Amino acid sequence: MSLADDLYRETILDHYHNPRNRGEITDPSAKVEGVNPLCGDELTLYLQLDGDTIKDVKITAKGCSINTASGSMMSEAVLGHSIEDVKKTVDAFKTMMMSKSGEITLPEEMEDLEALQGVRKYPVRIKCALLPWNTLLEGIQSAQEDQKGQKVKEVK
Ligand code: ZN
Repeated sequence: MSLADDLYRETILDHYHNPRNRGEITDPSAKVEGVNPLCGDELTLYLQLDGDTIKDVKITAKGCSINTASGSMMSEAVLGHSIEDVKKTVDAFKTMMMSKSGEITLPEEMEDLEALQGVRKYPVRIKCALLPWNTLLEGIQSAQEDQKGQKVKEVK
């Protein structure tokens, strides 16, 4: 096992044992559930938007180490960022996970996420890593639809 593999494993275990932004949000902008039946991962994602910014994100999850670590890293990478930036981050992460080529370097603020590229060796586990990110996109969409709905109501 190479040094990089060891570092990657340490990062993943750290996020697995101490998941960041774990919990619930009362009265969130969106609450969405994600399931990965292949592995049995389940998570609930709470999202609080302030205009176009992710003001708060919380996750409660019952999943494997990869799923839990990925969700924890995702919450850190998107908290306080604009939706536009977050969509770019999601794209960069997904591109990394789907890439068949060698080492991928992500922007500095996404450094921890590079640890998950080791998962590409296990195609079944890629879904575990992607679940929190796909759930986040659903949450953003649902929150934005709600915002639009409210504006229409205000106009009337
Ligand atoms: Zn899993």
